[in-house]
Amino acid sequence: MSAESIRFKLNGRFVSSTGEEIADEERTVSLADRKAPLVFEPLDPDNGNFELFHVVIGMKFHWEREETQRFKGKLKLFVENGLITAVNILPIEDYLLSVISSEMSATSSVELLKAHAVISRSWLLAQIQKSRDVARHVSEYKTFIPNEEGYIKWYDREDHTHFDVCADDHCQRYQGITKVSSKQVYEALKATAGEVITCNNAVCDARFYKCCGGITETFENVWEPVHHPYLTKVIDNDVVPEGYNTDLTKEENARKWILSNPPAYCNTHDKEVLSQVLNDYDQETQDFYRWEVKLTQAEIKDLLFRKAGIDVGDVLDLIPVERGVSGRLIRLKIVGTTGTIVIGKELEIRKALSESHLYSSAFIVETRLIASLQSPPTEFILKGAGWGHGVGLCQIGAAIMGANGYSCQDILTHYFPNAELRKIY
Ligand SMILES: [Zn+2]
Ligand SMILES: [Zn+2]
Repeated sequence: MSAESIRFKLNGRFVSSTGEEIADEERTVSLADRKAPLVFEPLDPDNGNFELFHVVIGMKFHWEREETQRFKGKLKLFVENGLITAVNILPIEDYLLSVISSEMSATSSVELLKAHAVISRSWLLAQIQKSRDVARHVSEYKTFIPNEEGYIKWYDREDHTHFDVCADDHCQRYQGITKVSSKQVYEALKATAGEVITCNNAVCDARFYKCCGGITETFENVWEPVHHPYLTKVIDNDVVPEGYNTDLTKEENARKWILSNPPAYCNTHDKEVLSQVLNDYDQETQDFYRWEVKLTQAEIKDLLFRKAGIDVGDVLDLIPVERGVSGRLIRLKIVGTTGTIVIGKELEIRKALSESHLYSSAFIVETRLIASLQSPPTEFILKGAGWGHGVGLCQIGAAIMGANGYSCQDILTHYFPNAELRKIY
C-alpha cells in the first residue's frame, strides 16, 4: 500500500533496520518523518505479525473499500512517488497460501485448488523474472504507444520497480494472514509443492481472471505484442457451441456471440460453485457472463475526459476497430462533434468508459437517439460478455470443471494448451 502516512501495529517482538527493538507497539510513519526506508523484522517469524490500518482493497473497482490487514514476515517502508509505500517481504509458498486463500473459498474442489496453486506459483515466478528482465532493459519495455489516430496503452509490470508484485487485483489479491488460511489450500500447496507449468523450458506467465465470456483471449491482444503458445484462444466448453461462428475477430460474429447466451463452463448461476471463486463482495456481481451498462451523453463525456483526458465534444458514436479472438475490443474509435480518437488496449477502454472498470472490453454499443437524427445520441447502452482480461484460466469456468470431476491436469491442459506440468523445486 502507498499513502501519505501509514499506521501499523507490530504484534510480538521486532527489530528495526536502525537496530531498535520494539514489542507490541502501534506506530505511524509519515512523509514528514523522513526515516524511510525502514525494515521491521519479527524476532520469532512463526508468531510475530504486523497489522496495517486503512488498506484500500479493490482499488478503483466497483467494490473498493478499506480494511485492517495482518501479515507475517518483514515490513519494509520507503518513499516512492511522493508517498510512503509499505511492502511485505516473505517466502514464496507463504505468499501463495495467502493469495489462494483470498482468491478461493475452502469449499472449492481439491482439483481446482491444486490447479490454482500451480498457476499462481507459475505466475509469481514469471512476474519476478519479467520484472528483472524489464529492469535490465528499461528503455525497451514500452506500454504507451501514441499514433496518428490516438494511442495504445496497456498495464503490466511498468510500475513495480521496488517490489515483485502488488497486493491488488492488478497482480493477485494479497491480504496477508487477515483471513485464516484453510487446511485445504495448505494441502493443495503441499500436493503441488514446486510444481509449475512450463513451455519451451520457461515458466509460464499463467494469467487468470473471473470469466472469459465463452472464449479466452490471447496474451498479445491485451499486453505487449509477444506470442505465448499457451495463452491462446480456448473455447470454454467441452464442445464447440452449435450455431455460432466462433471467429469473434469478425464484427458480425462477435455481435451474435455477445448478444446471445452460448453454453460455456463459465455460463453458470450455480451459487455454490460461484461462492468457491468469488469473495462476498464479488458475489455482489450477478451478471458477469452477459452484462449491460447504460451511460447518458453527459456521463460518457465526463468519463472520457476525467478517466482518459479525451475531449471530442458530444459523443456521436463508439465504433469497434479491432477485436481479439474472445470478442474483446483491442481498439475502439470514439467519434465526437469536434474530433475522433482511437484508443486501446482492453484495459484502457474499460477504464475510459467507467467510473471503476467495465467488466470487460467485449461489448456491443447501442445508442438511443432523439427524434432528430442530426443531434448526438442521448444514451449509450453497452452490452457485454465476461469479467476480466480473458487471458489464461477462467476462474468460474475452472470451478465448474472442478465441480464436474475434471482433474487439476485436465483444467490446466484446457486453459493452457501447449504447456506442461513440471516440478522445479
Ligand atoms: Zn501489480
Ligand atoms: Zn470462461
